Amino acid sequence: MSTDVAAETRLVLSDDQARALATKYGTPLYVIDEHHLRNRVRAYIKAFRAAHDKTELTYASKANSTLAVVAIVASEGCPIDVASEGELRAALRAGIPAKNTHLHGNAKSAQEIKAAFDLGVGQIIVDNFEEIDAVAGTKGNCPDLLLRLAPGVSPKTHAKISTGQDDTKFGFNIADGSAERALTRCLELGLPVVGFHCHVGSQLLDPEAQIGGGRALATFAAEMAKKQGFMARVLNLGGGVGIRYDDQSQAIDPRQYCLSVVQGVKEGLAGSGLDPVIVQEPGRWIIGESCVTLYSVNNVKTVPTKDGTRTYVSVDGGMADNPRPAMYGSPYPVRWISADESAPGAPMKVRIAGRHCESDTLFDDKTLPSNVKKGDVLQVLCTGAYNSSMASNYNRYPRPTTVLLRPDGSDVVVQRPETWDEMYARESVPEGLGR
Ligand code: PLP
Repeated sequence: MSTDVAAETRLVLSDDQARALATKYGTPLYVIDEHHLRNRVRAYIKAFRAAHDKTELTYASKANSTLAVVAIVASEGCPIDVASEGELRAALRAGIPAKNTHLHGNAKSAQEIKAAFDLGVGQIIVDNFEEIDAVAGTKGNCPDLLLRLAPGVSPKTHAKISTGQDDTKFGFNIADGSAERALTRCLELGLPVVGFHCHVGSQLLDPEAQIGGGRALATFAAEMAKKQGFMARVLNLGGGVGIRYDDQSQAIDPRQYCLSVVQGVKEGLAGSGLDPVIVQEPGRWIIGESCVTLYSVNNVKTVPTKDGTRTYVSVDGGMADNPRPAMYGSPYPVRWISADESAPGAPMKVRIAGRHCESDTLFDDKTLPSNVKKGDVLQVLCTGAYNSSMASNYNRYPRPTTVLLRPDGSDVVVQRPETWDEMYARESVPEGLGR
């Protein structure tokens, strides 16, 4: 494994390796370590199985749907959670059998539902009453259905990635009776509902919210067994397990985490006679720590402020390859790599700026050596999740290359940058416009 820090759970390239990859492929560059990724999947599957014998780990491919990533995770035995027809098609292109995919989304179109039927998706997670009708009205073999429920749990996380509370666009509310009405409607229509789903939020640094979500789901399932004779066979607790975006936070131990969430479900099921498969579908925890982004420093500028000065270190990437700092103010760990192997100077507080318009501050208040200069490389850890999958062409920059480090020590491009022709291929200038 390429990690050079003892007890470090995150992928960290050695300085030599980072310099060599930046020179070979250019920057910005996403670097994924296959061995690291496989170990993450294996560790979670093992921990989940140790907590309970009927479990399934699904990968939420919205975190990173690069085909090679999806193929690696699926080869470890994970079904693939997709949130759109595009993610479904990505999974299929990665070689995943359609029956091993689960379609999510809070506003699926009739066309997406039809495509899911036609392509043979394994499960649809139904979000709303209109969707129940759309599923019932779609011709073909109906996949297994789960009902997405809003369990009324507010996680401790960023408001924009908090989804389990009552005031949410996702799912059928348990508290106001919508969840029960949805089940009744599906049963009346003879739809193949097999269980329930919830996802309370993302980047959870303790299991409390997921325990609450799992308990609420299980309690509801137990109630439905009693009232409606509906015997849930699947309870999917969603994803959300957090990772170490700062050097101070503790790595989550999946063994402890899984024991806790399974315990919540068991409490809710007690005495119901139900014995469902318990599913979790993390994305971030699986891929987040297995990838780094390399940037080159393009310039260093010190400017006056009202209290003194500020140093800006501007790099050749930014909000188009990692929108999370702009969207959520997300922190990331950054490592400096000198282009000419100089020793680090005295530490200095800097603002690391991206190359895009708007303010595009990547990371504020970072400590770098005072001799940081043009050509140095910055290695940003933990960029596997919600970076490449959220990347854009803002300012018409091509999206970056992704390189996969193979277990045999070789490296291979699994996503090349866009060409100029590809970038403009969808557009045309009608006759008579301009000159
Ligand atoms: N499942 C569902 C339904 C989600 O909406 C999400 C994220 O938004 C996930 C799983 C994955 O979350 P995370 O990457 O935080 O594990």
